[in-house]
Amino acid sequence: MRSTKLDVQPICKNCLEVVDAATDPFGEATPSEGDLSVCSKCRTIGQYDADMNIRPLMDFELETLRNEHPETYVDIQKIIFILKAIDNAKNNK
Ligand SMILES: [Zn+2]
Repeated sequence: MRSTKLDVQPICKNCLEVVDAATDPFGEATPSEGDLSVCSKCRTIGQYDADMNIRPLMDFELETLRNEHPETYVDIQKIIFILKAIDNAKNNK
């Protein structure tokens, strides 16, 4: 797992947070159009668009992801769980 400082500054279209780094939990890839993302601020599952901003997935897209790529869906749920656990650890200090 490695975080990459991005050349572009994508915006999460759900919470408008500027995303200046990306972490690939399973490798060292840098994001490209179509890649999935979990916003570190609002925890929304999104997808990089052509402008490299991150738009939230719609409910039917999440359902399609869950049905057609269940391993990926589970991986994303794990990432969200880890982010929430980090929040809880910070809040308990
Ligand atoms: Zn967000």
